[in-house]
Amino acid sequence: MTKTEKTLTPKLIKKLWMAFILLVLLMGASYIFITGYFANKYSQETTQRLNADVANHVIAEKFNGASPFMEDGSVNSALFGDLMHDMMAVNQSIEVYLLGQSGEILYSVVLDPDDKDAAKSVDLAPIKSFIADEGTNFILGDDPRNPGEKKIFSAAPYKVDNHQGFIYIVLAGKKFQEVSDNLMSQYFTRLGIGATLLTMVFSAIIGLLAIWFLTKNLRLITQTVRSFHDGDLEARIPNPEKSDIEVFAKSFNDMADNIVGNMDKMKSIDLLRRELIANVSHDLRTPLAILKGYIETLQMKRDTLSEIEKDEYLQITHDNVDKLSNLINQLFEYSKLEAEQVVPVKEPFSITELSHDLIAKFNVLAKQKEIELELDNPQENCLVYADVSLVERALQNLIENAIKYTEPMGKVTLSLQKKGQNVEINITDTGTGIPVNEQPFIFDRYKQVDKSTKKQGYGLGLAIVKKIMDLHDTTITVLSKPKQGSSFIFNLPAYQV
Ligand code: ADP
Repeated sequence: MTKTEKTLTPKLIKKLWMAFILLVLLMGASYIFITGYFANKYSQETTQRLNADVANHVIAEKFNGASPFMEDGSVNSALFGDLMHDMMAVNQSIEVYLLGQSGEILYSVVLDPDDKDAAKSVDLAPIKSFIADEGTNFILGDDPRNPGEKKIFSAAPYKVDNHQGFIYIVLAGKKFQEVSDNLMSQYFTRLGIGATLLTMVFSAIIGLLAIWFLTKNLRLITQTVRSFHDGDLEARIPNPEKSDIEVFAKSFNDMADNIVGNMDKMKSIDLLRRELIANVSHDLRTPLAILKGYIETLQMKRDTLSEIEKDEYLQITHDNVDKLSNLINQLFEYSKLEAEQVVPVKEPFSITELSHDLIAKFNVLAKQKEIELELDNPQENCLVYADVSLVERALQNLIENAIKYTEPMGKVTLSLQKKGQNVEINITDTGTGIPVNEQPFIFDRYKQVDKSTKKQGYGLGLAIVKKIMDLHDTTITVLSKPKQGSSFIFNLPAYQV
């Protein structure tokens, strides 16, 4: 077992675990942030709602007629200053401003006149909408002490001697902010630590359980893959359709089936190959032994043999050399086909013409055996789209066999017939036929139907035919009855002109 395999699952668990913790922490942080935001808003809104009328009270109770805070157009600073101090002493969170008609700050005790950063005026838009809504809506206004910041406020308009303006009271002033910030940071530190600890504990427990459940299938798959790798060819993922990773589980099972299938195929190919080598070497030995015997006789009895005997012996050696070269050629051809070195060059050609040529070529042999060889329907010109030399080879083998396994006075017919998109080619003989139980094996290399009645032949002819059919994506069928004859039938795609 390699290191990678060992660490496969723990690595994944570690990653899932980290992702889970990160997720929980992120959720925790978002929760704290959202809580903080809404808590702050809630507190500000409550404060504003509660103190909405503060500015109105200031105007109504303190200045209404009795003591004008504007005298001759300028601010009565002594009176106004006193009032502000009083108010701010009672409620330290507020800051009171007297504003002019366009929002300019006329007076405030909290503003240092030398402070260059402090605002000189306040935006009137929020103040006006606050007054219009009578303080029922949550509105933020400018904080003159911190320009750019927004604060809750209360405001009310005044009109004294043709002077108009606003009393503007920031409800969460600097003091309020300091206290609030301090409390908030303490609160959030405690909340943060508490939440983090709780999160860690719960995420550890839930995370472990979740990861254990989530990776249950994965562990089962890893275990199965490992067993298969270690040689258990039966190992399959049970109920792949129920697995969380169904596609993977099914693919693995299919792959395992394919591997086992291919292994079986390779084993049987290997077995056949060994059988072929054993048989071929046997078949090579026989003609070689005959050759050797006759050549030795010719050498030793050169002077005593008659001319007729010498001719006969030479003819025998010649025949055996033919046999040997035939076998070697067939073997060479077959091994090339099996190694998929042959690529068919398909083109349109007349199978009728090819058949005429073959009939003419084999007629000599047929006549020698007193067999009638004919082409059925010779007038019709059938065109097919195929590799002409491979088809010729297949037809040669089939005609050769038909002649070989037919007794004198028998008949061999090659017929061509257009059938839809195809041309059907049929080689029929009235020969020995093939027993039904042998028929499925005749296309396997090196299986002669009956070893005892072995004629000249090496069991490669039909194997070559079968390979040629495969290269043309077609199949060959055999119909045969012992003692009545055989038919070999296959189709080739017709060429449409
Ligand atoms: P061989 O070289 O032995 O003829 P083939 O591969 O051509 O090898 O044929 C395989 C076997 O199939 C033959 O040995 C023979 O028994 C049988 N066979 C093939 N063609 C015919 C046929 N036309 N009639 C009867 N038997 C045949």
